[in-house]
Amino acid sequence: MRQLTAARPLQPIDVNPSQRTAVIAYVALGANLGDAAQTLRDALHSLAHAPGLRLLTASSLYRTAPIDSSGPDYINAVAEVTTTLSAPDLLTALQAIENGAGRERPYRNAPRTLDLDLLLYGSARIDSPALTVPHPRMWERAFVLMPLREIAPALVTDEMLNAVSGQAIQRV
Ligand code: ADP
Ligand code: MG
Repeated sequence: MRQLTAARPLQPIDVNPSQRTAVIAYVALGANLGDAAQTLRDALHSLAHAPGLRLLTASSLYRTAPIDSSGPDYINAVAEVTTTLSAPDLLTALQAIENGAGRERPYRNAPRTLDLDLLLYGSARIDSPALTVPHPRMWERAFVLMPLREIAPALVTDEMLNAVSGQAIQRV
């Protein structure tokens, strides 16, 4: 029998703790100031090129009337990414993209040039002051569930969609 020789050294299990396994995450995008559709396209481009992130799929853009907010209609979408960032670092990366789009926070639920919310991070459940995952309001919002269903149908049941069927939403 041929002897198996260790031509390559075996990889230790934890070669580099900073090299995490990639996790699939879902990000909700929304904007209702300026050219909201262009802002979302730019944000998707930023998601695709941010360090530690890869954009897998982006939903269509959707138009919705503001809920708990004011100003013009919103443009919304959901993106599926893989990331080697931890969830807090991913949130920081999302906030950097928001800030790059000129996001200001004059008051709660103010109109916004760009809002990026972390919906799901793998199967993680996180409840810290700065980060709650799954996003606590995602199942109340047609503007999250419709685009999420488009790119990840297994995650959104008919019952979930029925629960938000009163909310007007239109694919752009
Ligand atoms: P909104 O709730 O309208 O999205 P902001 O975008 O201003 O409001 O977010 C307010 C805070 O919500 C952020 O500073 C962030 O720390 C916190 N937060 C908690 N969980 C999440 C999450 N899953 N995604 C994004 N932000 C979150
Ligand atoms: Mg937000």
